[in-house]
Amino acid sequence: MALTRRGRLRKALAQPFPEAWRDLLDHSVAHWRVLAGHERERLEGLIRLLLVDKLWEASSGFELTDEIRVVISAMAGLLILGLDYDYYHRVTTIIVSPTTVVLEGDRHVGGGLYTDEPDPIIGQARFDGPVLIAWDAARAQARDPEGGHNVVYHEFAHKLDMLGGSVDGTPPLESHAAYERWVRVCNAEFVALRNGTGGDLLDPYGALNTGEFFAVVTEVFFDRPVQLEQEKPELYAVLRDFYRQDPAARERRVSYWPRSV
Ligand SMILES: [Zn+2]
Repeated sequence: MALTRRGRLRKALAQPFPEAWRDLLDHSVAHWRVLAGHERERLEGLIRLLLVDKLWEASSGFELTDEIRVVISAMAGLLILGLDYDYYHRVTTIIVSPTTVVLEGDRHVGGGLYTDEPDPIIGQARFDGPVLIAWDAARAQARDPEGGHNVVYHEFAHKLDMLGGSVDGTPPLESHAAYERWVRVCNAEFVALRNGTGGDLLDPYGALNTGEFFAVVTEVFFDRPVQLEQEKPELYAVLRDFYRQDPAARERRVSYWPRSV
């Protein structure tokens, strides 16, 4: 008898988390090493769900391993550690390429503009389509959060943004007051980044549009949380309230990022 989706998910959660996967996380995901016991337990469940519930594909000529799926799931799961798993209902397929993919041919780049310039990318999140992740970038960034770049956080943040029906840099929020605060705080920082007066912490790529701003800020929120909280406390606070987690407190608890071994 074929199991329903709900049945498959329940079955996946009931199975013990393999020790080999914990070893992988220990070695390959810096964040894993700063999580409290209950956070690890929750993340293990999210990893399990993502592995059975999403369609995983390799780009042609590439083969997916447990390491690839577990490490990418861990970072995607960390993003929604404080949220319901259902926040990823718009994620259906995750395609992994070994390295940078070069987009060719005519493409819409927004605002009615088209380009045929070759465009090297390490990730992409399509509206109602798959998430693409370049494994070499994801692997390196999982080990080195201090760089402040993480393609998995970036692309999955776009998927959270899309929950509202558009990519405008505003994920679903609880109340009208929360929306107002979000727009006020994020707009001010977005304008500062555009004007070059926002400091060095945020990648200027975030000035492209408000959707990219949210994805770029999410990367920094998780990977350089203490700096973000110090330099832009209001921006840090709106992200903390949305993601319902406090990565700066976590990082301060250990006072440094454990180096990968
Ligand atoms: Zn983006």
